[in-house]
Amino acid sequence: MKRIFYFNITYGCNSNCIFCYSHNTWHNAQPHNEMTVEQFFEYLDDKELSAKDRVIVNGGEPLMHTEIGKILGGLLPYGCEVLIYTNGRMITNYDLSCLNENFRFIIPIHGYEEIHDSITRVKGSYQETIAGLKYLVEQTNCPVDVKLILNNRMIEEDPSGDRTLQAFEREILFDHAIHLTKMADTIVSAQNGCKTISNDDASRFMKIFFDYFSQRNVKIKIFDSCIKSMEWMRSCELERDREALIVYFKDRNQYRIMDLTRNRMDCMADCPFADRCMSAVDEYKALEFFENRLYENLE
Ligand code: SF4
Repeated sequence: MKRIFYFNITYGCNSNCIFCYSHNTWHNAQPHNEMTVEQFFEYLDDKELSAKDRVIVNGGEPLMHTEIGKILGGLLPYGCEVLIYTNGRMITNYDLSCLNENFRFIIPIHGYEEIHDSITRVKGSYQETIAGLKYLVEQTNCPVDVKLILNNRMIEEDPSGDRTLQAFEREILFDHAIHLTKMADTIVSAQNGCKTISNDDASRFMKIFFDYFSQRNVKIKIFDSCIKSMEWMRSCELERDREALIVYFKDRNQYRIMDLTRNRMDCMADCPFADRCMSAVDEYKALEFFENRLYENLE
């Protein structure tokens, strides 16, 4: 049984993304509703955290937690896998050279600079994220993933995806995996009047990005998006991940075991890709492609 411990350690953030998943987050760059370091480790010790487990450190923006150094440094002796979901903007404020290869950073990119900053609604956020990626890749042993999130502005202003991919050529560094997904419909996206991204648009861009990154021979993780434009995937053998999974969620005020029931979308009814269309949000799985193999894996 694979165990995942998922934490929202703070509900403060220094960005204000138009589709933020967390409608409880405050976007004024101040710490808010933080979990204490003691709460964090008491919970993990109670569950007897071991090297076989995965810990997810999320927020808000987790690097805004006032004691983030103690949280990350304190996880080192456990030898477990740690994923840090961060916007990457504050990375260069810290010395992370003590972290080892068990600590993986997952950082979103919303397109080239102008589009990225319009999604985060913070001018200059793209350049800070680029600097954070460069630091992690060049100065630490931590694996670094970029999550490329398709949005409506990219669809309208970069219909070929060329400008976005040129930004990768020029300056977006990572050394472990590229995640391909699309902007989700959330409470916040509805408040901001964002249009749902259609499966046609999503699958067209997934193919553009997949073709580009597969030539670069990097690990590709696709989730919460449409893959119907990639005809070859229909007949390609899919290696299933059979390991049972349990996800524990904890923040300052609550804990629960997350329900991993797959959400059946209407489009699945007659789609030949439905069995390989995966959701990191509902199932905690991604469709992964690397070295000519297509398989299920965790994000
Ligand atoms: S089930 Fe088919 S149409 Fe629906 S999102 Fe998945 S691949 Fe696209």
